[in-house]
Amino acid sequence: MDYVYGPGRNHLFVPGPVNIPEQVLRAMNRNNEDYRSPAVPALTKTLLEDVKKIFKTTSGTPFLFPTTGTGAWESALTNTLSPGDRIVSFLIGQFSLLWIDQQQRLNFKVDVIESEWGEGAKLDVLAAKLAADTDHTIKAVCIVHNETATGVTNDLSLVRRILDEYRHPALFLVDGVSSICALDFRMDDWGVDVALTGSQKALSLPTGIGIVCASPRALEASKTAKSLRVFFDWKDYLKFYNLGTYWPYTPSIQLLYGLRAALDLIFEEGLENVIARHKRLGQATRLAVEAWGLKNCTQKEEWFSDTVTAVLVPPYIDSSEIVRRAWKRYNLSLGLGLNKVAGKVFRIGHLGNLNELQLLGCLAGVEMILKDVGYPVKLGSGVAAASSYLQNNIPLIPSRI
Ligand SMILES: *Cc1c(COP(=O)(O)O)cnc(C)c1O
Repeated sequence: MDYVYGPGRNHLFVPGPVNIPEQVLRAMNRNNEDYRSPAVPALTKTLLEDVKKIFKTTSGTPFLFPTTGTGAWESALTNTLSPGDRIVSFLIGQFSLLWIDQQQRLNFKVDVIESEWGEGAKLDVLAAKLAADTDHTIKAVCIVHNETATGVTNDLSLVRRILDEYRHPALFLVDGVSSICALDFRMDDWGVDVALTGSQKALSLPTGIGIVCASPRALEASKTAKSLRVFFDWKDYLKFYNLGTYWPYTPSIQLLYGLRAALDLIFEEGLENVIARHKRLGQATRLAVEAWGLKNCTQKEEWFSDTVTAVLVPPYIDSSEIVRRAWKRYNLSLGLGLNKVAGKVFRIGHLGNLNELQLLGCLAGVEMILKDVGYPVKLGSGVAAASSYLQNNIPLIPSRI
């Protein structure tokens, strides 16, 4: 294959997969091991304990599946629900659309609550549905915390408040693929029953681990849930946890060592500092977009995402052309507009192992590419807006204080 890398670094600014830190790359560069030796369960034990911290749960039970976010979705659904179960799900962009498609193909009856792309989940409609559902026919509420296609973050604490207000027992299932480990996420405080993420997003690992975390209620539900499941069955994992944290099938040893290193880096920085860093990166990006005179796809401030910004381009520009040329000319990888917003937005992913100066490099590249495609931008305008904000807000590096 005549793939040409070009000099220097690729500026990877798609909202997943993201940059892998050197420490993680090195930790994974190792030989295979006998996974039945005592070394592996000793490692697994630390991973299961520490993964709970990124979900902010003490009562949850995590499962590390060799899969992607899509497999984690399937695990969450099939372990807790039975075919024909009524569930409520919000359609706000491409990732929620794909999850709903999976829910329908798994034979759940899905009440789809649709929003315009760029808007958040319509929680008032959820409230009305729960209020009307006095027989408790709704078995689960499914929501994507951060819709990666449009850069919209939903308020999960509000979902919990609505469920509580109507004393509704529906399970609360959350896709946290582009939020957990980057945005404020609190599994226990928000009474989330199943939360899930994928390794290639904020955790900054290669693709290949789907992390699913189940509340005690979800574990209880799994005892009677009738959906067909084999590979993703929690029961098989629980059996091996009871044997001392061995695995039901061959674990990816290299990825487990990578996860260890990734968690160590996150805890060294401090999870709250990681979240604060994402807030800075999100705010700096939005300031740049504003300075360019462009609009954010996200319609209201309350939904602004600190992990991805979808930028609307004027109708005379094809956003796919921006993405194509940014890669060809500047070695900058931006996210395409997906489905309904294809051609209309390009996305800047600002999640994972990333710092402010890297982001400024990306913003400088975006300015040049905008000019290349005929958008009248003043070079340096977005970078200036972002850097003057960052210069006032970047703290010392936590490990160097
Ligand atoms: C990336 C992503 C997914 C899909 O994950 P895969 O690892 O590609 O299967 C699901 N949900 C959200 C919100 C995502 O950002």
